[in-house]
Amino acid sequence: MPHPHVIALHGGAGVHPARDYSEVEAHLAVLVRECDALLANGASAIDVVERAVEAMEASGLYVAGRGSAPNDRGEVESDAAIMDGARMRAGGVCAAVGLVHPISAARAVLEHTPHVLIAGAGARRLAEEQGLALVQDSAAHYRLPVGVEAEELLQLDSGLAHGTVGAVALDRQGRLAAATSTGGLFGKRAGRVGDTPLTGIGNWADGDIAVSCTGIGEAFIYAGGARDIVARVAYGGASLDDACEAMLATVARLHGDGGVIAIDCSGAVTLKFNSPGMKRAVAGANYQPFVAII
Ligand code: ASP
Repeated sequence: MPHPHVIALHGGAGVHPARDYSEVEAHLAVLVRECDALLANGASAIDVVERAVEAMEASGLYVAGRGSAPNDRGEVESDAAIMDGARMRAGGVCAAVGLVHPISAARAVLEHTPHVLIAGAGARRLAEEQGLALVQDSAAHYRLPVGVEAEELLQLDSGLAHGTVGAVALDRQGRLAAATSTGGLFGKRAGRVGDTPLTGIGNWADGDIAVSCTGIGEAFIYAGGARDIVARVAYGGASLDDACEAMLATVARLHGDGGVIAIDCSGAVTLKFNSPGMKRAVAGANYQPFVAII
């Protein structure tokens, strides 16, 4: 019996209720159906989460890839991580400059190195070696994502000046995978690295659970992020829903906010957030395609 495949996506925590996200909703609706069809046709979870995050990076609609946030030096530094739960192998890049698809560089770390995380110039070198696309002209490549106004780039506490994209999937063979990519916080200090590329914090997949987080990275790091959720389920017997809520409650106590998407090996999906909205979508064998922002 094939497993009930499922895909969940997020396009970042924090939305402004008064702004128009119809382009994002339309993009997520098409993408989640595309990923659902790939999984239904037997594609692997790891390939589908990479494909989903690549598409969100390429769109420029979210704070990742083309929509990434410039740091305090005006330069885009990207963080990304991907994990294959079936192989218990992960790869990540952080503070990486000039990558068109940070998630593909993270996949290259997973597939072609014995390492879990490669930073800065080393990440770019690996991407070059693997023939991955590099940004030729930053001014032409990067754009302001949907829902972020130019003046907000100067207001780091606006709650909207950050974002991330993520995907978690269960394939028909019962394999779980997770992928997460971010341009981080607008105006962040050069070299700042958040939760996203840290395997076990912003991103995780094993044989039982796959998780992708979004929100104020520092608070997620203190709260333990994805591995805190896994531990609450494995050692505490919590449901996936309760574990995600408890981890986000810790994030809130630590003065952060954000959200999480998670699935387990039975195909159950959890989408939780304590931020004002989270761009999100789900589809699968047992799920009609669903997209929401608020
Ligand atoms: N978690 C990301 C970071 O702190 C930002 C976000 O998800 O909005 O870099």
